[in-house]
Amino acid sequence: MAGNHQIIVIGAGAAGMIAAGRAAELGDSVLLVEKMERPGKKILMTGNGRCNLSNSRDMDGFIAQFGANGRFLQSAFRRFFRDDLLALLARYGLECRTKANGKVYPTTDNARDVVRAFQHYMADGKVTVRFEVSATGVLVENGRVSGIKTSVGDLPASAVIIAAGGSSHPQTGSTGDGFHIAAALGHTIVRLRPGLVPLVATDVAQAKLMQGAGLRNVRVTAFRCPAGEIDLSLVPGVDVGRGFDGQRPKLPIIESRTGNAVITHFGLSGPVILEMSLATIDALENGPVSVSIDLAPDMDSDALRTELQQAFDRRGEEPYRDIMKDFLPLKLVQPFAAMTGAPPDKLGKQITSGERESLLDLMKSLRFDIQGAYSMSTSLVTAGGISLQEIDPGTMASLLAEGVYFCGEVMDVDAGTGGYNLQAAFSTGYVAGESAASFV
Ligand SMILES: Cc1cc2nc3c(=O)[nH]c(=O)nc-3n(C[C@H](O)[C@H](O)[C@H](O)COP(=O)(O)OP(=O)(O)OC[C@H]3O[C@@H](n4cnc5c(N)ncnc54)[C@H](O)[C@@H]3O)c2cc1C
Repeated sequence: MAGNHQIIVIGAGAAGMIAAGRAAELGDSVLLVEKMERPGKKILMTGNGRCNLSNSRDMDGFIAQFGANGRFLQSAFRRFFRDDLLALLARYGLECRTKANGKVYPTTDNARDVVRAFQHYMADGKVTVRFEVSATGVLVENGRVSGIKTSVGDLPASAVIIAAGGSSHPQTGSTGDGFHIAAALGHTIVRLRPGLVPLVATDVAQAKLMQGAGLRNVRVTAFRCPAGEIDLSLVPGVDVGRGFDGQRPKLPIIESRTGNAVITHFGLSGPVILEMSLATIDALENGPVSVSIDLAPDMDSDALRTELQQAFDRRGEEPYRDIMKDFLPLKLVQPFAAMTGAPPDKLGKQITSGERESLLDLMKSLRFDIQGAYSMSTSLVTAGGISLQEIDPGTMASLLAEGVYFCGEVMDVDAGTGGYNLQAAFSTGYVAGESAASFV
């Protein structure tokens, strides 16, 4: 390794690479230590390998995606936002495009190109990168940073940027080390929990029977009560929850969203479930939680009843099972037949009004009591982290240890899916790099 460095960055993820690149661009000598054998392992997984790196929403809409902690990001976003990120990537030959849903991807649809662009950025600034070096602590002398402790010994520095990520998908290297390092400096770590994660049903056996059912364009509503006590008249007609500013859920509703979901062998997954998972898991701290899925949200009960009745009349000589296939995903046909009490081979004309009403009720409110989140390791993002009360939002500097800076998921910021988390990592990383450079 070349001599001493003024700035050490811990972690070569999205936040750490841009922080190192920016500090080096401003003329500082920068060392980036990464515990894995190569950089950006998590970036490679993002957007199913295509890297959804930002979103076309305006800044207020962007900030709303982060919930109550979003305001903390405002100054970082003012300093370095989507267009700045795209301009930086374009400097290294990588163009991006915005899809109709607002998500921004590299035109190559290849996350590897994003990692490559940041490697070039760092190489331009002559950042020294050391792989397979694990940081274990920050060295402080007389209240000021003097370096870091690592698996290969102490390394001196005048400023340290902690960009070690969260603790989800630990195989990427994000194993929560940043929390321990910050806690040793006196920082508060806001309770860690999975931020975007599947939900585990209390009745796993029920879920298992429906395993593999893909639910398209359904309305999922999470309630603060057991499934048996759900009052469907409270289901809102619009989406409510994080990111829908001005639409605050009214008790006992936790969140309600339309979109796609899937029933798994343990419970519920899919985009709409992941988006609702954090609020749902947090609500579980205070009592029972359940989820109601409306499989036909575009039709009210009366309209659906008429449709079902017409289908049973028109196709009276066909088995119940075949008629249901027109209304339900295949994987729900058998379990729904069992739950309505009508044998699947019963003819349409023999279906009683009670059986039809049971089917209608199930289609308008398929319910699951929820026992918890699937594992942290499968979450897309870590909620909680270093308390924002102890970080200067303008500089990303620690308010407790002079010369220490934070950026990315190690802080208590997390958003839903859509490119928000990566943009936050890039924006805060850029600011941390710039601030550390001006500090030294
Ligand atoms: C499957 C998946 C898909 C995702 N898709 C998207 C998406 O499409 N869009 C989006 O915006 N977000 C997405 N995210 C979230 C996003 O990837 C993260 O929020 C983002 O990568 C966080 O960046 P970071 O730099 O803070 O942390 P990380 O990317 O986790 O990087 C932290 C780095 O620090 C290193 N490190 C940790 N501890 C040490 C140590 N002690 N010493 C040295 N190095 C250390 C790690 O090895 C790692 O390389 C996805 C996440 C997952 C898991």
